[in-house]
Amino acid sequence: MQPPLDPRKILSELYVKNLELYRERSRIHEIIQQVAEVVFAVDQDYKITLFNKTAEAVFNFSQEKAAGMSADRVVKLSRDEVFFSVKEYAFKKEATLNEINKKSITAIDRLGRKFYYRLNFAHTLMETGEKECVITLTNITNEVEEDKRKDEFIFVTGHELKTPVTIIKNNLWMFRYLFAGKETLTPRQKELLNNTSEELIHLNKLTTDLLDLSRIAQNRLVLNVRDCNIDQVLKDIGDSFSQMANKQGLKFSVSKGQFGMVKADKERIYEVFENLLSNAFKYTEKGYIKIGIARQKSHLKILIVDSGAGIERKDYPKIFTKFGRGSEGLKVHENGASTGLGLYVTKNLVEQMGGKIGFTSEKGKGTEFWFTLKRT
Ligand code: ADP
Repeated sequence: MQPPLDPRKILSELYVKNLELYRERSRIHEIIQQVAEVVFAVDQDYKITLFNKTAEAVFNFSQEKAAGMSADRVVKLSRDEVFFSVKEYAFKKEATLNEINKKSITAIDRLGRKFYYRLNFAHTLMETGEKECVITLTNITNEVEEDKRKDEFIFVTGHELKTPVTIIKNNLWMFRYLFAGKETLTPRQKELLNNTSEELIHLNKLTTDLLDLSRIAQNRLVLNVRDCNIDQVLKDIGDSFSQMANKQGLKFSVSKGQFGMVKADKERIYEVFENLLSNAFKYTEKGYIKIGIARQKSHLKILIVDSGAGIERKDYPKIFTKFGRGSEGLKVHENGASTGLGLYVTKNLVEQMGGKIGFTSEKGKGTEFWFTLKRT
């Protein structure tokens, strides 16, 4: 038989339990109040239910005043310089967080200083059974400013390099023109001249990539997308790369046919081909490189296929990222070391022309990069 329950003992146990709970709650409340992050919460009507000390300082509102107010009247955030309503992020799916944080989220304090934030949220259930969304904002101003300084440095470096590279390129071209057909140069002199031209191509590509990189970072990559004759582009590209193919002992072919007009930037389209083809040549020791074209309903699909080293599956996520290099890129290549910039820039260029880009590959067998352009 069970001993009879002692109400006094139960009461005192309950009291202890409640006290523990109360202490735990106060402790959590105190932590939320003191953390360096902005923490606030809204209920299903987007009214403020929690507002910590950092939030008070950032939004210049006291907790007492903010509590129960419509969040949009208190939390003044901007996303890409446009007012960012709480309704656009509270109670959204976890997957949208990445998308939200892709653009800059800022707040301006009462002294007019601009701060950058990374946003996070979690959904909880309140005691009343209602849903609550707890939002935290981490101050990333230092990181953003450091990135801006890096971009500025890259831009200045690219710019400073561009002028001498262009002058050397023009002078070399003049030199070749003046000596064309004359047998005044010895074979050794010719070899030195050719080596200089080849190195200059890499230097030119690097400066273009650096300048594009900083333009992308500052949203200043402006393309002039209009009707462009792809057949002419294919002919020019075919002519300029067949010499390289001969030198490397690779078979090189370009799809035959008339493909007409596409929507593209007339200069940047050459950059896209040059980036993809220079990679194909860099990572292919023997076999072939092919440019294939497939007509699709509204697009033209262009394929750059090689029988080279291929890309390891573990490297796939890195390939189109800024400075992302695969295991092949990490090896030093005779024809130009890898910077991991080319495909990042290329992806941005293709997408800004209204196309898509991707690849399939098999380690040791070869790679197929493809991109699409809108037909006109
Ligand atoms: P980079 O040209 O400086 O190497 P990219 O951004 O163009 O930089 O390329 C990123 C990485 O993708 C390279 O480091 C390399 O590992 C891989 N890659 C690109 N193209 C090919 C290819 N055709 N074959 C094998 N690997 C490639």
